[in-house]
Amino acid sequence: MGRAVRLATPAQRQAILARYATCYREGCPIPADMAEIDHIKGWAEGGTTDLDLLAPACTWHNRDKATHPDRYRTRRNHDGTWTLLYHGKRNRFAGRFRR
Ligand SMILES: [Zn+2]
Repeated sequence: MGRAVRLATPAQRQAILARYATCYREGCPIPADMAEIDHIKGWAEGGTTDLDLLAPACTWHNRDKATHPDRYRTRRNHDGTWTLLYHGKRNRFAGRFRR
């Protein structure tokens, strides 16, 4: 799909819902079907709308990540899904050593 399409297609959304039960922020209980589709790499930074680089983020986490990208990092899981990790303002690098 590359950069031709800005938003996830309905088929992509279906596929994402099949892979994720909830918002991809670690521990967030918001169901994926109520979440927005987030680009793992921000669109403005050259991210693409490829299924591999999409994950569900609830409205709050999507917005907070967009506002404070420095407070989050993403982790690629063995099954190909992503987890969004929050490390906040303090302990800026603490999350780097977790798996
Ligand atoms: Zn969330």
